[in-house]
Amino acid sequence: MTERTGGCLCGAVRYTITTEKTGLGGCSCEQCRRHTGSLLVSLDAPGEAIRFVAGEPAVYTSSSWAERGFCRDCGSTLFYRVTAGKMAGWTAMAAGTLDTLEGLSLENEVFADGTAGAYLLAGAHERLTGEETMKKYGAGA
Ligand SMILES: [Zn+2]
Ligand SMILES: [Zn+2]
Repeated sequence: MTERTGGCLCGAVRYTITTEKTGLGGCSCEQCRRHTGSLLVSLDAPGEAIRFVAGEPAVYTSSSWAERGFCRDCGSTLFYRVTAGKMAGWTAMAAGTLDTLEGLSLENEVFADGTAGAYLLAGAHERLTGEETMKKYGAGA
């Protein structure tokens, strides 16, 4: 297991995430677009793999099955977290808040058509449209 460290822009919120994963996920669904201002690229892990070691993220309930964390001081997007169903606790930490992205690479992308082609992620990763995403993951995506 690798412990990585991260935090928001102002440093008020700091966290660790412990996972073997090195693949990042990208999401361009409308909610991720609006919450991040672009798209959410994340390192995903179960809730118990993430520890907040300084500060407390503010949380916005974005749907009946998920919430989004951010820093109340600087506004940095910190995470997307599933709050209901069998995936409850599963958390997508915003990769851009990691202290280093060394050793990580984009593995898959969901709602890849969410930007209407205005901006696209290059590379040979798995790419699912919104329709394909809903078919594969359902409403929890
Ligand atoms: Zn902050
Ligand atoms: Zn999304």
